[in-house]
Amino acid sequence: MHDLREESAVNAPLNLREEGRLRVLQALYDSVRTSRPELIRRTGLSRATVSALVADLITTGLVQEENGPAEQETRPTGRPAQPLSLNPSAAYAIGADIGHAHVRVVLCDLFGTPVWDRGEIKEVDRAPYETLDLVAELIDQAMRDCGVPRERVLGLGAGIASPVDRDGALGGEGILPGWTGIRPKAELEERTGLLTQLTNDANAGALAERLYGAGRTADDMVYVRLSAGIGAGIVADGRLLLGAGGLAGEFGHLPAVRNGRVCRCGNRGCLETVASPVAIARLLEESWGQPVTAADLPNLLARGNAGARRVIEDAGEAVGHALAGLVTLVNPQLIVIGGDLAAAGEALFEPVRRAIARTALPSAANQVTVVAGELGPRAEVRGAAGGVLASAPRSLAIMSGADPLALPD
Ligand SMILES: [Zn+2]
Repeated sequence: MHDLREESAVNAPLNLREEGRLRVLQALYDSVRTSRPELIRRTGLSRATVSALVADLITTGLVQEENGPAEQETRPTGRPAQPLSLNPSAAYAIGADIGHAHVRVVLCDLFGTPVWDRGEIKEVDRAPYETLDLVAELIDQAMRDCGVPRERVLGLGAGIASPVDRDGALGGEGILPGWTGIRPKAELEERTGLLTQLTNDANAGALAERLYGAGRTADDMVYVRLSAGIGAGIVADGRLLLGAGGLAGEFGHLPAVRNGRVCRCGNRGCLETVASPVAIARLLEESWGQPVTAADLPNLLARGNAGARRVIEDAGEAVGHALAGLVTLVNPQLIVIGGDLAAAGEALFEPVRRAIARTALPSAANQVTVVAGELGPRAEVRGAAGGVLASAPRSLAIMSGADPLALPD
């Protein structure tokens, strides 16, 4: 088993020097590019303290000083202030996305930009150990390919197609069949030696679109993932809504059809039984008497197939009706639609908007915009890594104090 950094070390109270370093690192992280005078203003620390801390951080390779003045930043003496920024390759985070039928792993730099990215088709639902082994192999490969040692990786964020409670246990019986009793967080930590945060995949997608994508300016937004599983991440007042047991946003299990098909959750007629790409393909298959898969849908639409267009419109309408309830209840300014089905474009979006306009509280319907996600199939995996990077300044404040990082020039 790998040596695991103590989780408590990251959460332990900071000493005075670490606290100062944290303030400087946080200001650098938030502003991307700044200067010493700006750091003094933002941290409330003295000029001497900031100078000493910055000098230390430059020596360890965490902070880099660029040539040329920071934008619109001039010292009273008239000498331009030197721009400072965090070295994006000072540390990394790894994201993993474990869906029903795929896994994906990214290695992201300090600012969440992927530097390595790989997805694999995988039957996940009934093969938990094989899946976890595959994720660990991809992680090893990412670090090897990029020459990034484990010590420079702040942690692993893993998004999974299942509700996750606050203790990191999987909830929602039947949603990920075959994973009952499995503790993915502990299993991944054992396989990778990396501190692991487990999160629901739609919540990870919501975080990514909020940090890096379509929701960058939205404090009240809903991200909906329309893939083999349907889920949502709800951001209210800038915070992700989790619910008492991590079940908030299980959008695919809202009732859509009275006495419809039996869903894997045990209810009948859930949205997922009518609006997932699998459910849509099944309708065409039954009608045409020949195999149709979810992967065929974009092609059928592009060729103007009337049946495909109709079933996607019906799915859009069902999604829109379910969203209308959410619009009335939580009053989001933005709905971001991601997942495989988002590729259907206006054939899907138009009926979604129409159903919201028709059934949500009119004033709430008027305030919401429905857009496609900007991050495509990378949303979940980038959000999972983004969750780890949220505490990067704190981790770096502790790491950079322990011993100098062996960083490349
Ligand atoms: Zn269900």
